[in-house]
Amino acid sequence: MSGCVFCKIAAGEIPATIVKKGNGIIAFTDMNPQAPTHLLIIPTIHIGSLNDAKDPGLLGNLLAFARELAKEQKIDARGYRVVVNTNPDGGQTVFHLHLHLLGGRVMNWPPG
Ligand code: AMP
Ligand code: ZN
Repeated sequence: MSGCVFCKIAAGEIPATIVKKGNGIIAFTDMNPQAPTHLLIIPTIHIGSLNDAKDPGLLGNLLAFARELAKEQKIDARGYRVVVNTNPDGGQTVFHLHLHLLGGRVMNWPPG
């Protein structure tokens, strides 16, 4: 989708530090990290939010991708958090579906 920053990253039109690619999914580092490990996992096709994701298979693939990345980043044993902010009350600011993978520190609960 034109004007979508994550579509542009997926198309290689704006720079990002890509850490993993495959199966219509890419992961890259968050530009404003909230934890020692903070990666964003996105489908390469434009989907606005979790509300718009029609394909449960894709959602499963995104989650499996996040789990695999957690292993590769060596945060799986200590623990990590996967977050999908959805729409304004959920804290979503970029309207291209993405999973945050956060780790490398203890996460607080409840979230803010
Ligand atoms: P959310 O608030 O859940 O929509 O998360 C959007 C995330 O995207 C934020 O954590 C931003 O720091 C991150 N972000 C926005 N633009 C970029 C970019 N060009 N490269 C990397 N991360 C970005
Ligand atoms: Zn997009």
